[in-house]
Formats: sequence, C-alpha cells, structure tokens
Amino acid sequence: MSPDSSLPQRARVAVVGGGAAGFFAAIACAEAGGGPVVLLEKSSTVLAKVRISGGGRCNVTHACFEPSQLVARYPRGGRELRGAFARFQPRDTIAWFAERGVPLKTESDGRMFPVTDRSETIIECLLGAARRAGVQVRTRCGVTAAERTAGGFRLRLEWGGELACARLVLTTGSPRAGQGGAALAAGFGHRIVDPVPSLFTFSITDPRLADLAGLSVPATRVRVPGTSLDETGPVLVTHWGLSGPAILRTSAWGARELAERDYRFTVRIGWLGPAGRDEALGRLRGQREAEGRRVVAGAGLGEIPARLWERLAQAAGIGPDVRWSATTREQLQALAEQLTTCDFPVHGKSLNKDEFVTCGGVALKEVDFRRCESRLVPGLHFAGELLDLDGITGGFNFQAAWTTGWLAGRSAAED
Ligand SMILES: Cc1cc2nc3c(=O)[nH]c(=O)nc-3n(C[C@H](O)[C@H](O)[C@H](O)COP(=O)(O)OP(=O)(O)OC[C@H]3O[C@@H](n4cnc5c(N)ncnc54)[C@H](O)[C@@H]3O)c2cc1C
Repeated sequence: MSPDSSLPQRARVAVVGGGAAGFFAAIACAEAGGGPVVLLEKSSTVLAKVRISGGGRCNVTHACFEPSQLVARYPRGGRELRGAFARFQPRDTIAWFAERGVPLKTESDGRMFPVTDRSETIIECLLGAARRAGVQVRTRCGVTAAERTAGGFRLRLEWGGELACARLVLTTGSPRAGQGGAALAAGFGHRIVDPVPSLFTFSITDPRLADLAGLSVPATRVRVPGTSLDETGPVLVTHWGLSGPAILRTSAWGARELAERDYRFTVRIGWLGPAGRDEALGRLRGQREAEGRRVVAGAGLGEIPARLWERLAQAAGIGPDVRWSATTREQLQALAEQLTTCDFPVHGKSLNKDEFVTCGGVALKEVDFRRCESRLVPGLHFAGELLDLDGITGGFNFQAAWTTGWLAGRSAAED
C-alpha cells in the first residue's frame, strides 16, 4: 500500500535526495523544460542540513569569484570543479537567489549569508522555486534499489512501490559504504572511494590548554610534523582541545592522512603565526629590555591572550613571580619554542557542530563534470556530497552542491 497514492508511476526525471543538491537539480531541470520531475526524499523533511547549516544562518556561498582561486578551497574535487565553476559559480548563486527574492550579504571573511540571517529563508526560497517549476516533492520515499531498463531506470521505493524514469539524478549526500545512494551508485558499477570525515576538531588533553575554553588566537600557524599540512589563521581553544578555521582547514586537507593515523598525531602550533624561533627570541629580548621590572606572566606579547601567555611561560619553566630582568637565556629560548613550535599530542577527533562533511564517495574519474553525468551509465547523473568532493568551511560545500546540482539538472533536461 502506497503512503502516497498520488505518486506517479512514471516521471521523465527522478531526483533521489531532497537536500541542497537535489533541490537545485530538480529546479534547474524543471525550469529548463525537462519535466515532469519527481524529487524523492527518504526522511519526513527535506533540506534538513540547510536548516541547521551555518548555525541556523546558512552560509550559502563564499565571495570568491575567480574559479582558479575557488578550486583551491576543495581538498578533493578542485580539479574537476574548475570547468563546472566556469559555468555556475558563486556569482551565479548570488544571482539565482536574488532573482527569487533572496538577497545575500557578505561578511568580512568572505562568507555569504541571506540578509535575514535565517536558513529558513533559503528553505522557503527553494520550496517556492520547486513548486513554481512543477517539481513533485515526495517525502518518506526512500529509494532502496535502482536498475537500468530499456527506457531508462526503474526505482524501488522503501514502501514497496516503484517509479520508472528516463533520467536519474542521485543526490543522496554523505556517502556511507554499502548504504543509501553510494550503494545505488555502486550497483551501476561505480567505484565508491572510502568515506572518512572531514572538518573535525582535535581532541587534546594538555595542562597548557586546561580551562582555557573559549579563548582564541587570531593569527596562528598550524602544522602536523611528518606531513605537508601547513595552515595559517585563527585557532580556538575548546573544552576538548583545539578548533577554529586553521584547525578545521588542517582536518579537511588531512582528512585521509589523519584517519590513517587513527587521529593520533602531533599538532604544532605557532602562536605568533609564521614567525620563526629567531624572530620570537628577538621579540622576547625586546620585551626583557622594555618590561624588565614587570613579571613575565603579567607582561606578555600583545597578540597572545593573557591566560594562554601565563601557561606558555609556565611551560617554559618561568614561574609566576619571575621578572623579565631575571629571565635566563635558556628560559627565553624555551619560551620562544612554546610560541613557535608548541607541540600538542592529539588523541582523537571531535565533531565540529557548525559544519562537517564526508570526504569520499563516487569516484570523480567516472563522472563527466561538464554534465555531472556518469561516464559508465548514460542518463545517470550525480551531484553534491555523494561525489568524492568536499570543501573547507566558508560556504564552499553548498557552492559545490549548487554547481553540481545545477549542471546535473540542466543536462538531465536535455533530450
Ligand atoms: C551541521 C552542519 C552545518 C553545515 N553548514 C554548512 C554551511 O553553512 N555552509 C556550507 O557550505 N556547508 C555546510 N554544511 C555542509 C552542507 O550541509 C553539505 O555539504 C550539503 O548539505 C550537501 O548537500 P547534498 O544535497 O549533497 O546532501 P544532503 O544535504 O545531505 O541531502 C541528501 C538528502 O538525501 C536523502 N537521502 C539519502 N539517501 C536517500 C535514499 N536512498 N532515498 C531518498 N533520499 C535519500 C537524505 O535524507 C538527505 O535529505 C554543513 C553540514 C553540517 C552537517
């Protein structure tokens, strides 16, 4: 018995997955005259990730309009996305939402949000655009199997029903080995690159960070010795260890390497950004000249928050009552080391609640990115996180979903 007796038995195009990529694909296809389009979502609500994204504000895209610079924000998929961004990039995303009554604004770091600061605005816009374009959206309609037929594809639905379509667009999001959309793609012969998490924070238990949760340092350097990972930017101390943009970027670029190490490695923080030990030592000597009568713990370098500075001084063997004038050469050297090559043992990862994605998915070599179409099965398209592509934080993951969704939808509309 169908939970939805109005579901047609046949559609020209079926889109599987009601997230950002699925809606963009379905709308692009229907607006280009490729309908009827049915969008099938397994859960009871669509666009669930859009709702919680960006802390409920939805970081829709990033103000980066040069495709060659844009692709550098994708640890996986940058090369493949280059041509795709030449056809649909953040400028097009901005125009797309503006044409549908949703202006976006840019924050100082380049992230773009709806001016309402509400993800609900984006959801209403996508639902409205889908309705106007005639997309039939069906929830509680998970697809459990898909097979090729003479006329296209036949889908089996969770509740036992079937749907036939000429073109199939898979946008089922985060791939899980042997499950969901990844299993459907694998059933068509596609290779699924092993999924591992990206955009996570580092779990660290260290006296230098204890009770400092909430403290942030704006310009640090983050490295992982023994790898080429090397990022600069803000770092945030959390209850569990370290987070912030520079840590999240390190987790994204190192997603696979750090998974292979079972998330046990050393992270090296340069609290003074790119400054090396000699430069730090020079600044400490200057401080000793200028602040000789003051205690070291109470007269730190300006960019280091006072409580962190106290901990670093302590770790360098400088007691709370030691004055600058009384510091030894060894102590200054140890403090310079704490400031520039401050090593912490990482013993695991924690969830970054603001944004996380999965690296891995449908192997990119098997996809024609001009049409986001399978190279193995004509008429089968992919978009969004199901593909083995992912970006750093800042709106890049949604941009990949909009771009690939739009390309998949437009090409599925063609005869
Ligand atoms: C907490 C959080 C915050 C985020 N914030 C941001 C942000 O601000 N900016 C940004 O750029 N990125 C952000 N991201 C990442 C972004 O949400 C994803 O990259 C994006 O949602 C991927 O879109 P998608 O359509 O490919 O997949 P999804 O949004 O995951 O949608 C896939 C849909 O397919 C459905 N589905 C799965 N299997 C089946 C099936 N067999 N049959 C039918 N339906 C199925 C799922 O239920 C789901 O609704 C965030 C992620 C998280 C987790």
